[in-house]
Parts: sequence; structure tokens; C-alpha cells
Amino acid sequence: MLDKVLIANRGEIALRILRACKELGIKTVAVHSKADRELMHVRLADEAVCIGPAPSAQSYLNIPSLISAAEVTDSSAIHPGYGFLSENANFAEQVERSGFVFIGPQAETIRLMGDKVSAIEAMKQAGVPTVPGSDGPLGDDEGDIVATARRIGYPVIIKAAAGGGGRGMRVVHTEAHLLSAVNVTRTEAHSAFGDGTVYMEKFLERPRHVEVQVIADGQGNAIHLFDRDCSLQRRHQKVLEEAPAPGLDEAARAEVLEACRQACIKIGYRGAGTFEFLYEDGQYFFIEMNTRVQVEHPVTEMVTGVDIVREQLRIASGLPLSIRQEDVELNGHAFECRINAEDPRTFMPSPGKVTLYHPPGGLGVRMDSHVYTGYTVPPHYDSLIGKLITWGANRDNALVRMRNALDELLVEGIKTNIDLHKDLVRDGHFQQGGVNIHYLEKKLGE
Ligand code: ADP
Repeated sequence: MLDKVLIANRGEIALRILRACKELGIKTVAVHSKADRELMHVRLADEAVCIGPAPSAQSYLNIPSLISAAEVTDSSAIHPGYGFLSENANFAEQVERSGFVFIGPQAETIRLMGDKVSAIEAMKQAGVPTVPGSDGPLGDDEGDIVATARRIGYPVIIKAAAGGGGRGMRVVHTEAHLLSAVNVTRTEAHSAFGDGTVYMEKFLERPRHVEVQVIADGQGNAIHLFDRDCSLQRRHQKVLEEAPAPGLDEAARAEVLEACRQACIKIGYRGAGTFEFLYEDGQYFFIEMNTRVQVEHPVTEMVTGVDIVREQLRIASGLPLSIRQEDVELNGHAFECRINAEDPRTFMPSPGKVTLYHPPGGLGVRMDSHVYTGYTVPPHYDSLIGKLITWGANRDNALVRMRNALDELLVEGIKTNIDLHKDLVRDGHFQQGGVNIHYLEKKLGE
């Protein structure tokens, strides 16, 4: 087992990783910016190192600082969490070159999946269903671009190969707007991601977001942990997730779950990962793979009993998967509400001092949060301050527990989106299950 892990992240996920390390008897190193001395996991870690000033670019994204911190603390591995450097292939490479284990896939896998064009190509070859599209980057020939769009059929979406975080995409409804849309997306992609490569896909009009959790040990073993539905999104940001995804076509589902597992084996995948799909009319369309632990991983843990971060740590230690596919059982249903420090109407971040924090409790209730009464949410980072997760024997039961838990949860002193969640878990369409990715924005009148 790894001896000492440096946690290259902050907030709730840093605490989540710390807890898993402690369970496995692994020593922990917290790294933090000057604005983050008061973080809960910094207090709980065996060692803590300040890696720079508040702005992420000078701290959590500062590769030389992180590697020096690993050196001075004699760490054996680095866990990147999600966000920040978690999907940065250069970071993974430098970590390994400096003699530390990167807790995640190999750098070349991150690179392959980080470029959406190569990711889609790899998945297609591995038998994972993809969106009808340009089958590769768009060239310069305008006639070809027009012909491609006609073949796919309007509406189409132009996407940056290097895009991420919901940026670098443009929907085109008619041929008249096609070429200018391609040019604008190219220019934007070039300035935002340093790579102007774009490709084209059929634009699906009312899909759901369904994703498949996988874990592979890089030693030929891979499992899937079923699916999650993350269709409740605002500006491509997930708000409320559940596992399993409700009301799927069972035959298509079984096929896709197995295809994802096989794809992991084919590409020699190592670690935890997520295949993201759009799901419409019983069909799956792969859009991208995330090569890291995801914010919403707890819902999967609740319905499978598999500790995903623990598996990541075991795999990074060189151990094989601790479970076989046939031992993975789906049990009950789980929801997760992302609790953000933000204005419930404008969605603007609302940093500041938490004057009262009271988490909910009871059977089937899990609160993953670094917040405590007296903690000050700094203005420099993502506004996620916690995740409220409930489990129930069935979907209705998990939802009732979420309603009750939200009523118990108190966060005072800052603005939060708790009221939005209270509203969502009482929404008639959501209660039925299976709303599409536009539902939340429509409901909010955006
Ligand atoms: P990012 O890496 O920026 O998150 P994705 O490729 O995952 O980009 O797409 C983000 C979101 O954009 C999806 O969840 C979906 O809402 C929308 N989207 C992407 N591709 C399509 C498509 N072909 N049809 C309809 N919506 C799409």
C-alpha cells in the first residue's frame, strides 16, 4: 500500500480523499493556498504545506510548487481529485517523472481522452456508440463542411476538440449560419484552449445526460458500477444527480455498460473513470470520458457499496481490483444535491463567513462537506461547499429522505442554493424521473 499521499486539491474532495487514506492507514499531506489555511482537511492531515497565494494559478495549478511539496514531505503519490490538474496530462507526466505515483490513468490515456476527437475515435473502435458526426476534425474545405452537415442533418453542433467545462460549442440550425459558426468556434477554441481544432456532431434536441462509472486496475481487470443520471444542469453545470439512472431501455443499457467495461480493457485504462453519454429515445451517444473521480461519485458508492476513492488508492498501490463484475450489485437508489455558496436568484457566488452550519442526519443520509460553523468560504474558488447525498431502498424513499434532509440542513451567514434543491425535489416532473438536460433551465425561465 502507498505510504504517504499528497492531496493536490481543496474543499470537500480533499477531505473525501483524506478520509479514504486514513481508513487504509496511508499518511496524508495537505497542500493549501494562503487563503485556505482554515480548511478542515488541512487540520486533519498528518502534514500541511502552503503552496502559494490564493489565486489557483499560483497554488493549486502550480505544478513546480506541488512537486516540491511532494519532495519535501517525501510523499509517495499525488491524488489530484477533480478539477484543477486532475485531467492535465503534463502534470501526470511530471509527477511520474519526478518519481511519484499519479493517482489516475497514464498520461497518454489522459491525453487521448482530453482531445475529444481522438476520444470519440477510440471509443468508436472499442464498440461504444457515438453521436453521428464528422468522424474527425473539420478541414478547411467549405464544400466539405457543408456536405458533412447535410449528411448529418440539422441541427448540428460545432465543438472544440480541446473544449471543456461546457465551453467551445455552437449549435447551428440552418446552412446559412454554418460556415460562420465554424469559423467563430475555431477562433474561440484557439484563444481559449490553444487549439483551433473543431468537429461536428448531430445536435440532439432533448437528450438526458446518463453516465457510466468504471474502475480498472490497468492489469486487465475492469468493472462498471452502473449509471448515473445528471440531466439537471444549469449552463452545463450539474446541479442534482442520481443513481441509477431511472427508466432506461434495459437492453440498450446492458449493452452500453458492458461496452464501457470492454473499452477500459481495450485501451488499458487504469483508475476510476466516467463515460458520459447523451441518451435519447432509448439510444446512447458517447460524448466524452472523464479520467478522474467525479463530484457525483457518492451516489454510485451508495447504491453499489463500492468505495471508489479506496479503489483508486489500491490501484495506485499496484493492487488488482478488489471486486469482480459479478460481485457488483445494485442496491436501492441515491440522490445528490450540490450545495453551492451562491445567490439563489442570480447564481452569483456568495463567499463569506458561515455563522451556523448544521448538517442533517439519520439513516441513509450522507453529507460530504468541509464546512463548519465559523468557516469562511473564500472568494477565489468554485462555489461548491458540500454535497448532500441520500440513499433509500427505492427512488421514492431516497427522495423523501432528501426532502427531509434538505429541511434539516442549515447554512447561515452566506447565501446558498438550498431553496432551489427544496423546490426541485418537490417538482412533479422530476419526481417522475427522466427529465432532459434542458428541463432545469426551462423551469428557471432562462
Ligand atoms: P464539456 O467537456 O465542455 O463538458 P461535453 O462534450 O461533455 O463538453 O458537452 C457538454 C454538454 O453540452 C452536454 O452535457 C450537453 O448538454 C451538451 N451537448 C454536447 N454535445 C451535444 C450534442 N451532440 N447534442 C446535444 N447537446 C450536446
